[in-house]
Amino acid sequence: MSATFDKKIHETVSNAPLQTAIYTFTGRLMEKRRKAVGDDSHFPEYQDLRDQASAVKKHTIENLDHYLEEFERNVNAHGGKVVYCKDGNEVADFVLGLAKEKQARLIVKSKSMTSEEIDFNERLGHHGLESVETDLGEYILQLAHERPYHIVAPALHLTRYDVAKIFTDNLGVENEVVIEKQAGIARVVLREKFLAADIGVSGANFLIADSGAIVLVENEGNARLSTSAPRIHIAVAGIEKLIPRAQDLATFLKLLGRSATGQPLTVYTSFLSGPRRGDEIDGPDEFYVVLLDNGRTKLLADREKRESLHCIRCGACLNICPVYRKIGGHSFPWVYSGPIGAIITPQFMGPMHEPALPFASSLCGACAEVCPVKIDIPKILLALRADVKKTEAREGQGKLERLAYRAWAWVMRHPKIYEMAGMAAASMAPEAKNGYIRTVPPFMNIGPVHAWLSQRDLPGPARRSFRQMWRARSKPS
Ligand code: SF4
Repeated sequence: MSATFDKKIHETVSNAPLQTAIYTFTGRLMEKRRKAVGDDSHFPEYQDLRDQASAVKKHTIENLDHYLEEFERNVNAHGGKVVYCKDGNEVADFVLGLAKEKQARLIVKSKSMTSEEIDFNERLGHHGLESVETDLGEYILQLAHERPYHIVAPALHLTRYDVAKIFTDNLGVENEVVIEKQAGIARVVLREKFLAADIGVSGANFLIADSGAIVLVENEGNARLSTSAPRIHIAVAGIEKLIPRAQDLATFLKLLGRSATGQPLTVYTSFLSGPRRGDEIDGPDEFYVVLLDNGRTKLLADREKRESLHCIRCGACLNICPVYRKIGGHSFPWVYSGPIGAIITPQFMGPMHEPALPFASSLCGACAEVCPVKIDIPKILLALRADVKKTEAREGQGKLERLAYRAWAWVMRHPKIYEMAGMAAASMAPEAKNGYIRTVPPFMNIGPVHAWLSQRDLPGPARRSFRQMWRARSKPS
């Protein structure tokens, strides 16, 4: 485990108010989801919809080349343009080039994890182009120079007192702790930005191949304003966001809102295809869809783990995960946190970016149970653990651990030696007389053994082993 991962986990678990905030918020979202899709929810088609969604995603990902071409054809037919980008540099180059050509200075942006992934705002900021987040949570985080804590609720870790301080420090307003009034402060600032912006940037929840449209779901209306008020709209989306047909949305929209926030539908669902037509009042003059790879095609080539690309970013797996609920969003080493972060971070960034990440799971399977597209997250975690171990072996790391497991396997194959080893362990652990081992001889108190015993007691060996008891029972009386 890297020192940073370790440090952030310790900081989070020892911060009692933060622990309460994480537990309360995720608990609330879980309860809302349960009411929306549980047995008492009057939503009997839920499991069938999950099967359908999983099948549609599988089919799309396996035929992505076909659907990408179809999508591009249809975007062009509506007067828009598709731009393929390999990584964040190429996205920044495209946006900067367009901004220069159109003499644009200000961007308003709606919430998008894809843009977080490529540090969109920071990249453009370095070149003097201002990009302002317009989702309230994201706007607060931008002022605080923090990344999202949760896929759906980016600022869940901040209290209203934290927000009051952030607003006072950055906007020069008086300390305001009433949430509605804080929203009012942000609204005043952001309204001016919407009116002055030259470019609106959004992500996309879905890209529809047969109609060349992007679909955005949101609750605040800021995405709708960001994409319709400025004269240019750029949607930045991962290539995996494609679905084949508009009618498939009936399945996904029913699942997404319910799984994320327990809503049957989010407040706003926007279908955007091409720039404003001649007779339309609202909408941009130019419409671009940036399709981002950033490691996705590498993941696509991996048949065992490619279902990670089925994710619709609902956040349900974060809310139910006992590890996320303990260590929070900022302990994770990249923008994606929770179970979905634990499976896609190593695949995007490489298994050794944070080798401990796939192991930071109890493998309880709760994430797979709530996932609306049925991604088998525990299975992928196990495959990633194997990747880490293979990489370590290739790099000559973990020799001691491999040696220990080899020795253990050898002992397990030799029953007499196993029994003698058990007796030796019992005699070397005098503390175990009280039932638990709290100390071990100094030569053993190293590495993982020390880490384990510094936090927990180890149940000691039984006074009489199973074999001894079995032999005693089997003796003829
Ligand atoms: S992995 Fe599944 S549950 Fe987790 S965010 Fe993605 S779609 Fe939602």
